[in-house]
Amino acid sequence: MNNSENKAGFDSAKIVECPCCGLHQEICFNKKDYEAWQNGEEYIQDALDYLSPSERETLICGYCDDCWQEMNEVTEDGYEEIQG
Ligand SMILES: [Zn+2]
Repeated sequence: MNNSENKAGFDSAKIVECPCCGLHQEICFNKKDYEAWQNGEEYIQDALDYLSPSERETLICGYCDDCWQEMNEVTEDGYEEIQG
């Protein structure tokens, strides 16, 4: 019959290497959705709305979830919470 047996029905995937820690992450998506975002036809949150926000960040900037959160914490905490 047909042999498209991907776990979540996605037809494409991308391996992203975190520039901070070197972690390799595989993000699965439908190729046409990814291309719609790459071509500027749709915002990533519309084209790839089935990905989690951190997965979308990984596609945009390459950082893994851990490094991304660490950077955001540093940025946000930088202004507040300075005591002593
Ligand atoms: Zn990382």
